[in-house]
Amino acid sequence: MLHVTCDLCGKEIRPGEEQRYVVKIEVFAANETTPLTEEDLDEDHLEEISQLLAAEECGLAPSGEDSTTVFRRYDLCPACRKRFLKDPLGREAHLNLSFSEN
Ligand SMILES: [Zn+2]
Repeated sequence: MLHVTCDLCGKEIRPGEEQRYVVKIEVFAANETTPLTEEDLDEDHLEEISQLLAAEECGLAPSGEDSTTVFRRYDLCPACRKRFLKDPLGREAHLNLSFSEN
């Protein structure tokens, strides 16, 4: 059975009982000569991305290179989805260390 926990609060998300939300983040160096198009984000790249993720998990991906595109994927519970959408970059958290919802 799939066991998923929220990457923000660590709460267990039970499939079928609670909606799970996936956040995908891509960080890359902007390149003016070859702007990303919708097509670049299409399914052709899914395999590439999953390979990158796999390599990263194995510790094989090159690190410390600022030009490398970084993909991140997070599972969120409904409460953390709200929190994330409200402040995706964690700016509030930086300004107010005691920030907490609920
Ligand atoms: Zn959560």
